[in-house]
Amino acid sequence: MADPNRPRVRYAPSPTGFPHIGNIHTAFFNWLFARHAGGSFILRIEDTDQDRVVAGSLEAIYESLRWLGMNWDEGPEIGGPFGPYFQSERLPIYRQYADQLIASGHAYRCFCTQERLAELRAAQEARREPPRYDQLCRAIPPAEQERRVAAGEPYVIRLAVPNSGETTFHDLFRGDITFQNALIDDQVLIKSDGWPTYHLANVVDDHLMEITHVLRGDEWISSTPKHILLYQFLGWQPPLFGHFPILLTMNRAKLSKRRGAPDILDLRAKGYLPEALINFLALLGWAPEGKNEILSREELIQQFTLERVGATPSIYNPEKLDWMNGYYIRQLAPNDLAQRLLPFYQQAGLIPEPASPDLVHLVERLVPLIQERIKTLADAPPLTDFFFRDDLVYEPALLIGKGWTREQSLAALGQARECLVQLTASAAPFEAERIEAAFRVLADQMQVKTGQFFGILRVAVTGQTVAPPLFQTMAVLGPSRTLQRLDRAISVLATGLAVPS
Ligand code: GLU
Repeated sequence: MADPNRPRVRYAPSPTGFPHIGNIHTAFFNWLFARHAGGSFILRIEDTDQDRVVAGSLEAIYESLRWLGMNWDEGPEIGGPFGPYFQSERLPIYRQYADQLIASGHAYRCFCTQERLAELRAAQEARREPPRYDQLCRAIPPAEQERRVAAGEPYVIRLAVPNSGETTFHDLFRGDITFQNALIDDQVLIKSDGWPTYHLANVVDDHLMEITHVLRGDEWISSTPKHILLYQFLGWQPPLFGHFPILLTMNRAKLSKRRGAPDILDLRAKGYLPEALINFLALLGWAPEGKNEILSREELIQQFTLERVGATPSIYNPEKLDWMNGYYIRQLAPNDLAQRLLPFYQQAGLIPEPASPDLVHLVERLVPLIQERIKTLADAPPLTDFFFRDDLVYEPALLIGKGWTREQSLAALGQARECLVQLTASAAPFEAERIEAAFRVLADQMQVKTGQFFGILRVAVTGQTVAPPLFQTMAVLGPSRTLQRLDRAISVLATGLAVPS
């Protein structure tokens, strides 16, 4: 094994689905550990189960890691001294070690047909026994094995697990874990099509790639004794093992895609910031040194140690993620936020691609109006789409103040229009404070409550009842667009039609 003070860790996904928060959580803890210790983070693609490969998932793995800033030191697209990093390109290597295991008596060829295995399983189920191979082929003498192979009989290669004794390994987070060998199945190592199973490929690669720490989810605990046996039989020193506690849903069920574990790229599409997501991920099963839970990537790297990884499951709380994302959004420099919002406006069809400088400027101006209010980037377009379109459709009833008549409302909007005209006639800038002051004076003069008055003005200007602060909105829209909207609203209220006639 290589020097454990310069750890070499790996993230070894199978491209059988799009990475979700649980997968990337494992990747991130490996990455943090490597970066903290000045070690290497290796990406290895475990694609030996070709039937289960899902189109697009490989790209989604790269994209998810890159989006979250988890660069890999060796692996696909960049190579490295221990490649290839796709298991599908390493088949002869696995074969060689399978042959070595057969030669040393630690593995054997099994010629049992699918029918026999199915019957065996059915009989075991009927007896309420756990399904496992009955080792029939273990007794076939080597010469006969060779003869049957030469005759073209299909076979798999199985691990010859000792029928007595126990296998123990030390888990970095849980201490020693012991398994009775008699309960471990004679695991298939090479399938009848010549491809290796996960177990063989994983062990061979971890060894050849000089992995020092295998840090993975705890669903792999029951596989680890098989791996330990493989290391023993191949005469290799095993790496250190640590199995991260599972993530739970709010109802304390195991978090899975089916139970709402979000895909990483969906989170990106919904407008979560990578810096918020990594901070959130880090706190699932790891505790920072102090009380402060807001930690930058650099702080996480600096503080991350395996000693502070807990042994109990942690709960994925989407509300906390929203809170944290809102926090990070509020911390962004306004221009940075504007840049990040642009693709969301484009996605919503409100800004063309490429964006004109005018529209970029508009986004920059409206950022201060929403920065405190949005939890995700995707919250912004529906809240502010009225800035980008002038064809507002009004609900006439919403243009009538509570307890007011239509005539009173019309009169108030008419006065507001006058007020705006006067405001724009002056050379003073069209700024929120000035507009607000003028409208407050007007409300006083008309002896109306600002609640109702500003409420219908908001609908007139934005088409909606919930919108960013009214006078700042007017200032960003500018005098002529604001005036135009008042005119449309007045016309709608006068005619009762949702759009001006
Ligand atoms: N290919 C396995 C997976 O999909 C890797 C498990 C491990 O880290 O050993 O998660």
